[in-house]
Amino acid sequence: MFYQDRVLGMLWGLHAGDSLGAPWEFLPPQPAWNTKTEIVGGGKFNWAPGEATDDTDLMLGVLRALQNAQEISFDILKSEMLAWFASNPPDIGTTTIKGLQNLKDGKALRECGFVNNEFQGNGSIMRVAPLALLTEDAVGVYGSEKTQGLHEIMITQTKMTHGHQHCVDTDLIFIPTVKAALAGKIKQEIFGVALTEAEKISPFIYQKLKAIPETPWDNLSTSGFCVDTLCAGLWAFLKYDNLEDALVSVVNRGDDSDSCGAVAGVLCGAFYGSQAIPARWLEKLEFKNEIQQLVSSFFRHA
Ligand SMILES: [Mg+2]
Repeated sequence: MFYQDRVLGMLWGLHAGDSLGAPWEFLPPQPAWNTKTEIVGGGKFNWAPGEATDDTDLMLGVLRALQNAQEISFDILKSEMLAWFASNPPDIGTTTIKGLQNLKDGKALRECGFVNNEFQGNGSIMRVAPLALLTEDAVGVYGSEKTQGLHEIMITQTKMTHGHQHCVDTDLIFIPTVKAALAGKIKQEIFGVALTEAEKISPFIYQKLKAIPETPWDNLSTSGFCVDTLCAGLWAFLKYDNLEDALVSVVNRGDDSDSCGAVAGVLCGAFYGSQAIPARWLEKLEFKNEIQQLVSSFFRHA
């Protein structure tokens, strides 16, 4: 399978998980007899079927900020985020509101996200997947400032809205894991990358990740806590042998179903490729064509 198709699968997968899960956000888990398998819209914010929510909207902002595999423009990312903020999205998360208010007020990028314990939401991991397309020596450009290397780019990107260490660590673990999926590694190797990265930087997340293979669906947490969202996405990816079952299972846990679906969609889409997304879902996705065009133009400039 070609790398470009895995990239398309990753981003369509994010959108599919987001749109599949959006109607069931904030709800308790669905009983087995009532499993939701279709993109139908509705929910607390009365989404249209296939409408993008914050997960897909902000992922598109990150994707549009990529100049090529060696460079991301933080000027573009900032303006994308602020344009989205100005549109008064109904589903904006509490951590993201605080961060974007600081960004709007002109604070330094790494000082926008709040560091307090009540601000550990998943608003960065849900959007960050396009950074997996950058090389390790990529450069982040912001005005006349330059950020050297993917590691520093990841930290800046997270801290633009999420300053808590768990949020930063979650992304530092997630991106290499996604890269492994895009590189065509087998599942145990991909999970091994997540464990290795976590062991280096966060004993807390490492313990959470180690518990994933033994976690039954009934005990899976799909909350908006960044670490739970990372674990839920990995759980679904590891548990099933196809994208459709993985996404259906995780979004039917309710709670932050769309963001957990989006993170599962990233991993499954990168692993299985674009063909894994059911046609009946794909045709409903609001930004299906735009994602395809952005991916094509990224590879033209790569
Ligand atoms: Mg959402």
